[in-house]
Amino acid sequence: MLAELAPHYRELVDRAREVAEKVRPIAAEADEAVDVHSVCRDALRESGLAGLTVPARHGGIDDEVDPLAVTVVREVFGGVSAHLDSLFGMQGIGSYALSVAGGERAQAHWLPQVVSLDAIAALGLTEPRVGSDLKAITTTVRTDGDELVLDGHKSWITNAPAAAFVTVLAREDDGYSLVLVPTDTPGVTITSGPGLIAPHVIGEVRLQGARVPTDSRLGEPGQAFRLVLATLASFRVSVAGSAVGLAQAALDEAVRHTTSREQFGTTLSRLGSVPEVLGSCWTDVEQARLLTYAAARAAASDPFAALHWSSMAKVAATETAGRVADRCVQAMGRFGVETGSTIERLYRNARPMRIYEGGNEVLLGQLAKTLTKPAPEPGR
Ligand SMILES: Cc1cc2nc3c(=O)[nH]c(=O)nc-3n(C[C@H](O)[C@H](O)[C@H](O)COP(=O)(O)OP(=O)(O)OC[C@H]3O[C@@H](n4cnc5c(N)ncnc54)[C@H](O)[C@@H]3O)c2cc1C
Repeated sequence: MLAELAPHYRELVDRAREVAEKVRPIAAEADEAVDVHSVCRDALRESGLAGLTVPARHGGIDDEVDPLAVTVVREVFGGVSAHLDSLFGMQGIGSYALSVAGGERAQAHWLPQVVSLDAIAALGLTEPRVGSDLKAITTTVRTDGDELVLDGHKSWITNAPAAAFVTVLAREDDGYSLVLVPTDTPGVTITSGPGLIAPHVIGEVRLQGARVPTDSRLGEPGQAFRLVLATLASFRVSVAGSAVGLAQAALDEAVRHTTSREQFGTTLSRLGSVPEVLGSCWTDVEQARLLTYAAARAAASDPFAALHWSSMAKVAATETAGRVADRCVQAMGRFGVETGSTIERLYRNARPMRIYEGGNEVLLGQLAKTLTKPAPEPGR
């Protein structure tokens, strides 16, 4: 592997590998689960690694969430179990707005539980009729005395069926606010989500006159998008890490298979276009990893300024994962499409990555806007 990591990050990788090895024997089962798998939760809890998703002042590990640390751990998890990877990543994605803009009471109550996995966190942005166009949401929040009242429907929310709280995006007057809603609040109903080609713990969150204290609003009223952006700025690049791990695992499977199976008197790895497939997949994986680590390092020093690098890494690595998994399936012939095989699971798990945390087409559109923005006039 070409990309280098400092000793601190290599230690995190080793710790993540220990977790991954505990999960590996049940990884196929965990990746079919539609509720949080206890082996994944216990292994993650024992490792303490979920502390990487919360700042140290609230019980986490680093002073500020370090995108490179989260990314390298997700790289390890993404190569073994999508379920484990999602469980880890969502603890940060669901709780980050609370970490940076929540009230002290809620922070002290929830964040240590996020680290210990006694509380599962979720982020509720999407609605049945609204995906990429988040400003079109219809969920509302209004103040009534010393309470906030929420009404609406959040859809396809990762970990909702197991969550202790959901960070909900809602319209408030002319703006948008983020509100922390414990899932045991009267008026909150959670049901299972649809089945996916790559099963996922996903649910529908209905809010019908759900009342929470006013200090459950995270940050200032109407300022939600700044917090959503802060979350993406710190965590989007970690999806790239997970995708690199998946692509590497697919390539490892293809190498193992094509070097051990013979056809026409020689191994597949020497036949026809198979060497070209292996060589180009390796090149793709190394390229994606280099960009991902570089983007994560940039995000670690200034997450907002580096958002375009994070988006670029997310697009590049998830497209790589899809392409590499597909080509490795092909190189493995019928064994690549056998239900229950590792490569088949990786192939399915690669697909949703190009859709969530910003659809790749949407991110490419934003990158084009950044690229073509006129330079400020001299002296301004
Ligand atoms: C496994 C999984 C887990 C998820 N978990 C969560 C979660 O925890 N919380 C949550 O809130 N949501 C979650 N989602 C929902 C996810 O955020 C949305 O799927 C995503 O925002 C895209 O929205 P959409 O699926 O409605 O697609 P649409 O917005 O309908 O887009 C459809 C297609 O059009 C493209 N497109 C849309 N707008 C543009 C544009 N302006 N320019 C170019 N192309 C465009 C998209 O890239 C996509 O390819 C999850 C989704 C998946 C698959």
